[in-house]
Amino acid sequence: MPKFMERYSVIKEKNPREIVLLRGKGCVYKKCTFCDYYTDSCSDADENFRLNKEVLSHVRSLYGDLEVINSGSVFELDKNTIEEIKRICREKNIVIIHFEAHYLYKDRIKALREEFDGFILKMKLGLETFDYDFRENVLKKGIEEKDPKIIAKQFDEANFLFGVTGQTYESMKNDIELGLKLFERICINIMCDNTSQIKPDKAVIDTFMEKLYPIYKDNARVDILISNLDFGVGD
Ligand code: SF4
Repeated sequence: MPKFMERYSVIKEKNPREIVLLRGKGCVYKKCTFCDYYTDSCSDADENFRLNKEVLSHVRSLYGDLEVINSGSVFELDKNTIEEIKRICREKNIVIIHFEAHYLYKDRIKALREEFDGFILKMKLGLETFDYDFRENVLKKGIEEKDPKIIAKQFDEANFLFGVTGQTYESMKNDIELGLKLFERICINIMCDNTSQIKPDKAVIDTFMEKLYPIYKDNARVDILISNLDFGVGD
């Protein structure tokens, strides 16, 4: 499990921001076949708050922009942590806050934006791919909606997962291009070896690195995480 110093980092390139990895009560979904990081959770809200307060105390407002992730969705953070995020962001003059949420929470996003009145919230969706069959039958993401425009409606940004058997140059290119049309920013995560049942496919990763990475590596709207530690948080 990450120690607190691995829970704070600064992203200096592309959309510079600080980032914190907080801990919540745990992902409500837990069924994505490629994921094992939802184990970073604790059912004790007070313990989570104690840890999260410590992590948030490292925020300095270098860029007025803070990304908050928590191995799940923002709605799984305890109330005191949410209040502490607001307090720290007000104190440090942070204007933009990024949160992540599973699509299951889409109907709660409007209220969250209202709760964070005065800040600009950038909601990031764990989408992984627009390919419905692959997303729901292979990755088991739990997004029943098929229409990309409806999926994107409540969200500003999205995560994509590349490097899994079955993905192709065309499927990845389509995800990137459609992602850039429907979201302000996208984040491409290359599949890394973990304890889940999905393993990285070297041939798919090579295809991405040879044919797509050179095109998008300098695109300011595209983050590319070749290792899941590239944002500097996690273990
Ligand atoms: S990817 Fe996100 S939604 Fe899916 S199981 Fe992992 S933490 Fe939960």
